[in-house]
Amino acid sequence: MTKFIIITGGVMSGLGKGVVTSSLGKLLKAKGFSVSAIKIDPYLNCDAGTMNPFEHGEVFVLKDGTEVDLDLGNYERFLDTDLIGKDNITTGKVYRTVIEKERAGDYLGKTVQIIPHITDEINRRIWEVADETGVDIVLIEMGGTVGDIEGMPFLEAARQLHMEVGEEKNDLIFIHTTLVPMLDVVGEQKTKPTQHSVKALREIGIEPDIVVGRCKNKLEESTKRKISLFCDVPEDAVISSPDAENIYRVPLILQDEGLTDCVMKRLNLPEILKEKEDTTVKESHRMEEWKNFLDRFENPTSKIDIALVGKYTDLEDAYVSHEQALNHCRAETKTQINIKYVESEDLEGENGPKELLKDADGLLIPGGFGDRGVEGKIDALNYARVNQLPTLAICLGFQLSVVEFARNVVGYEKAHSYEFDEKTPDPVIDLLPMQRGIDKMGGTMRLGAEKIIVKEGTKAYEIYQENEIIERHRHRYEVNLDYKDEIESNGMVFSAHSTNEKRMEMLELEDHPFYIGCQFHPEFQSRPMKPAPLFFSFVNSILDKKSGEKE
Ligand code: GLN
Repeated sequence: MTKFIIITGGVMSGLGKGVVTSSLGKLLKAKGFSVSAIKIDPYLNCDAGTMNPFEHGEVFVLKDGTEVDLDLGNYERFLDTDLIGKDNITTGKVYRTVIEKERAGDYLGKTVQIIPHITDEINRRIWEVADETGVDIVLIEMGGTVGDIEGMPFLEAARQLHMEVGEEKNDLIFIHTTLVPMLDVVGEQKTKPTQHSVKALREIGIEPDIVVGRCKNKLEESTKRKISLFCDVPEDAVISSPDAENIYRVPLILQDEGLTDCVMKRLNLPEILKEKEDTTVKESHRMEEWKNFLDRFENPTSKIDIALVGKYTDLEDAYVSHEQALNHCRAETKTQINIKYVESEDLEGENGPKELLKDADGLLIPGGFGDRGVEGKIDALNYARVNQLPTLAICLGFQLSVVEFARNVVGYEKAHSYEFDEKTPDPVIDLLPMQRGIDKMGGTMRLGAEKIIVKEGTKAYEIYQENEIIERHRHRYEVNLDYKDEIESNGMVFSAHSTNEKRMEMLELEDHPFYIGCQFHPEFQSRPMKPAPLFFSFVNSILDKKSGEKE
């Protein structure tokens, strides 16, 4: 029988509810339980694919190709598990199903309403995940803040789920994450916002079992007592979540604060534990591994600077998975990796790259859409190719390195991607054939994990040490095969391709310390203790180059 933990948020957004959820999942997994996580996003988009990263941060892609909120990326990284589209429930998905059913006549004769039809559909989706995965515990993170109109049907569904599961059986608990602000003047931790948001939750019929207070420092005993008294939770169920130096420290902080014990007590989990063999050994082993990872992460012995050239550089969340992939490399190589965000438009013009990239040890060009800043990225790639600057170019970056090479080496001055110039005489990057005729933008790109063949004798093969790899995709355009042979005869090697050989998946240059492009997104599969091979070798090539320069 699956148990449920529902995590709500109060007072304001951006409190790190996703990290609390991921951390709790990590801790419970370390105890030996099987855990899965659902993210509820109360927006009307069916998925995150149609949203601008400026508004909502990075769009994460799951192996089944579903485009989701970046929180699911954190779940995958902390739980070291692959999630699927069903693990993300949005208002759009729920309403679409209910409206389609209404049109099909499934509710014939009835008035279709939010309660019970929408709420039933929400809970059907939650049960579906529980039943199909068969895990011990499903974590459900409610996006948004209690009190938001958008979130109401989901909270009502959660209340009903609680009733359905049966209160007395300890199979479902609510954790409320809230803000405990500190007044600078007196340094006092204020509990009133927490009291109000718990009150709002109780008005809906939900009583939190545990309150996690986000605060600059640890919650003081008196603060905990106050929250306990006013919010009707035992004192040991008020947990501090102070600001952490990095997100990978959060599981340990929450463990020290007693969150795992508290959750296990409320869910009656020790009973289950007894049935599992060897869990204590596994727990200490697993948390020990995590601590070692954290220790390597927090104590770097060398330092490098990487320029990340993108167009959403004002919003850090836009490149979360790239940052995390570099963080995983940081721990493995004990290297402090400073990311310098460079706005691609600023690179345009002759001296742009020289000026902005002169201090960088490596260049990372992530994926992207739309023509703003494209020429700046091409200039940066040109600079990196000519000046032997280690470069990892992902998706749009990969495509633009083909454009740069076609223009400046092969001699097709007007070469471009059809995405940005439909009139170019040399569309070295063209629309994927399966994209022709598609006029709906939502969920229609080439999406998700696919098998890729790596050519032996290439740098790519050296990196992956394998002939077949699986990586995740998100694109509409690709290398135009009409130009492939000519490009290759000029020195650019396409070192990996799709199983039918029609899609170029990787490229590299021989006379360069590291110049690799990939059509797929290696950042989505990078995990703590298992950095994505391309990122790992990129960082190592920078370290090698630097130590070579010193000698
Ligand atoms: N815009 C390009 C395409 O659709 C690249 C996409 C990406 O970088 N994710 O093919």
